[in-house]
Amino acid sequence: MAKFIFVTGGVLSSVGKGVVSASIAMLIKAMGYNVTAIKIDPYINVDAGTMNPYAHGEVFVTEDGGETDLDLGHYERFLNMNLSKKNNITTGQIYYSVIMKERKGEYLGATVQIIPHITDEIKNRIIEIAREYGADFTIVEIGGTVGDIEGLPFLEAARQMRLEHGPTNTLFIHVALVPTLRTTGEQKTKPVQHSVQELRRIGIQPDIIIARCERPLEPEARRKIALFGNVSPEAVFSDHDVETIYEVPLLLHEQGILRVICNKMNVEYREPDLSKWIEFVTKLKSASKRVRIAMIGKYTKLKDSYISIIEAIKHGSAYLGIKPEFVWIESTDIEAGKIRVEDTLKDVHGALILPGFGKRGTEGKIAALKYLRENNIPTLGICFGFQMMIIEFARNVLGLENANSTELDPNTPHPVVDLLPSQRGIEMLGGTMRLGAKPIKLIRGTRVYEAYGRDVIFERHRHRYGVNARYLDKFEDAGMTVSGFSYDGVIEFMELRDAEFYVGTQAHPEFKSRPLAPSPLYMHFLRFVLRRALNP
Ligand code: GLN
Repeated sequence: MAKFIFVTGGVLSSVGKGVVSASIAMLIKAMGYNVTAIKIDPYINVDAGTMNPYAHGEVFVTEDGGETDLDLGHYERFLNMNLSKKNNITTGQIYYSVIMKERKGEYLGATVQIIPHITDEIKNRIIEIAREYGADFTIVEIGGTVGDIEGLPFLEAARQMRLEHGPTNTLFIHVALVPTLRTTGEQKTKPVQHSVQELRRIGIQPDIIIARCERPLEPEARRKIALFGNVSPEAVFSDHDVETIYEVPLLLHEQGILRVICNKMNVEYREPDLSKWIEFVTKLKSASKRVRIAMIGKYTKLKDSYISIIEAIKHGSAYLGIKPEFVWIESTDIEAGKIRVEDTLKDVHGALILPGFGKRGTEGKIAALKYLRENNIPTLGICFGFQMMIIEFARNVLGLENANSTELDPNTPHPVVDLLPSQRGIEMLGGTMRLGAKPIKLIRGTRVYEAYGRDVIFERHRHRYGVNARYLDKFEDAGMTVSGFSYDGVIEFMELRDAEFYVGTQAHPEFKSRPLAPSPLYMHFLRFVLRRALNP
């Protein structure tokens, strides 16, 4: 069985298509079918790795080292499975491979065109991924909004797949915003009507329409969407605001989305097993132990820049009964003297030093770290945040004046963080960092070992710089000890021996944290945060 479900978006981007796609994938999987999910990003970048997090949010890293769109993170968290970098298709990748084929002479004699060459390449990739996963169902989310010029070849490929694979093997779901007028409280369906018209104009009739709205979709709005969208009222679903995104699958299931999908695709309906998921959502919503966690970074204005970290904290918190309050601290504000470290940090119960690139904001992070370390506040440094911990310690404890990372100061007298040897000589910037999952050996008797309880773990990476091993003896002597390293020589974890919890990691454990499998490291950090909140 190979069925394909295409998810398109209307009216606005960021309407929650990713969560809807992940939810549908998860529900179908819960019926016992094999599922995979693909995100299509119609931009020309080959991958998300070269984009600023301000533009598109976090770059999600897959096990096999893909730098992908953050929706892959939703898919992995909802499906509780690893996906490959292949599951994120971009215009850049499609054109790249068509152009390479043309140069090799694979289309000899032909004029290479969008239809059929680009659309064939798109269809072949989707089918190949479905085959590799042995997927009964492949959910294909088409990024952007219907009507965007750059999305057209992908929609055209989807239209052709409907024709070639037939109506029971393909399904179109359209997710669109239904705004509410504040003055009258009325739900307005005209934008949805227009975006469905736009779809139909290019030959796609949606089978299901999901209305993204603030409050439950009203019967009158449903009737209009069904009529003008040319679907039955049972095929219109309400995706209204809920407390957490993890409720969205339950919301859609309550309304019977699986039965509609199964009927239209002519497959057997099976009662999905959602017991563990419901248990998690219940824990998440009923958690009541309040803690305050400082989130210190420089992309704090767009929270999507740190989405996997936020979710990892939520996962661990649910199991510990914690209701975290995030205290966002823009490190450039500390640098500029707009906020004082002691004022903002004096009543937090824990702090996260967030990942990043480049100099801006780093001195602010370092100033915050000095306060956190001296006041024994539970602190977790992620990747760049870890590197800042090393610099702060080198300057203020080891007395290495102007110690720095060569990323930030190439002429520092004490390069305690330096370009990895494996990165020397690399000139191309796309896809060349140290990426993906690597085995890490943990050292017994450390906080990190306590967290994982295992000798060897796998965590994902995305960096070029790392702790300079030349300084390790000095750090060890002063109580900053290595708690894990990888076989290629990278220092993966360090921690302050006498602290409650002062741990840095070169890895990104947040990428593997899931509702049904929370990250052990985040969870352990949260135990100490809770302890501090209970005995300040
Ligand atoms: N800029 C740092 C490096 O390349 C850290 C990257 C990160 O935080 N992901 O090593």
